[in-house]
Amino acid sequence: MYGYDLLVVGSANADLVVGVERRPGAGETVLGSDLALHPGGKGANQAVAAARLGARTALLARVGDDAHGRLLLDSQREAGVDTVGVLVGGAPTGVALITVDPSGDNSIVVSPGANGRLVPEDIRAAVSLLHASSVVSAQLEIPLETVVEVARNLPDGTRFVLNPSPPQPLPDELLAACDPLIVNEHEARVIAGGDLGSSPEDWARALLALGPRSVVVTLGAEGALVASAEGSVRVPSVKVEAVDTTGAGDAFTAALAWKLGTGAELAEAAAYAARVGAAAVTKAGAQVSFPTAEEVASLRG
Ligand code: ATP
Repeated sequence: MYGYDLLVVGSANADLVVGVERRPGAGETVLGSDLALHPGGKGANQAVAAARLGARTALLARVGDDAHGRLLLDSQREAGVDTVGVLVGGAPTGVALITVDPSGDNSIVVSPGANGRLVPEDIRAAVSLLHASSVVSAQLEIPLETVVEVARNLPDGTRFVLNPSPPQPLPDELLAACDPLIVNEHEARVIAGGDLGSSPEDWARALLALGPRSVVVTLGAEGALVASAEGSVRVPSVKVEAVDTTGAGDAFTAALAWKLGTGAELAEAAAYAARVGAAAVTKAGAQVSFPTAEEVASLRG
């Protein structure tokens, strides 16, 4: 019996968002709206998404000893995430500085801060958390060598799910641990490189050849594709009125990882995750848009 259904290892950022009429060019100053401050970062988002669905969830991350760090810790605890693995200090909390214009186009500067100081040694020191978890999920907003260290320290029987975002080429030992590797088209192209072909089935085949035990390709409003050595299957999306797709990928990954931990087959877990992703796009924002299990159940379609 595991203490946690899901351990998320990853980033935690404060998102600082200002609306502007026009995004500034070099040397230019523009006036913007009042500042909006939101908890974010792919790791923090995944942990909140899983906990809101009812998963027993822990987060392994690093924040600064500052107000943004406290905001992130509070939002995790409020969602029901165990923050015993959140390390504090070493650098300021990671920040994303976001300007958004009226057409919805944005410019983003990310200061990784404490996320960049989550080092392999921190994983070795927290290995008991890995042992206590049915599934471990990660993304790439922390150093790659730290994610590799997670894969190296996975206990037998603990499943590893990776959403390699932002994408970069991955070492073989990390790829071999993924079950599944969850990518969108852009991530598939960066990771597999070369001429991938035009269909999601082609991308999945190219990725599987790199060594992951399974692959999930997310396709936005088109749903997803699930692939393994046994073949591939399309997972339909749920038709919804999309308001804001921010965080849909994080909600999808968290839901899929949790369902796998409860013993679901990959295609079944992806079908549930597609419902969670669809529910998340019906509301503005990232963490505030993540649904409860009841909201997922009542989603029509
Ligand atoms: P992100 O931009 O957050 O990194 P992503 O590109 O990794 O996201 P998406 O494919 O946009 O991921 O979304 C993840 C899942 O959420 C999809 O596979 C789908 O199931 C669901 N989803 C996303 N957008 C929609 C939509 N407009 N309608 C219905 N479902 C959607």
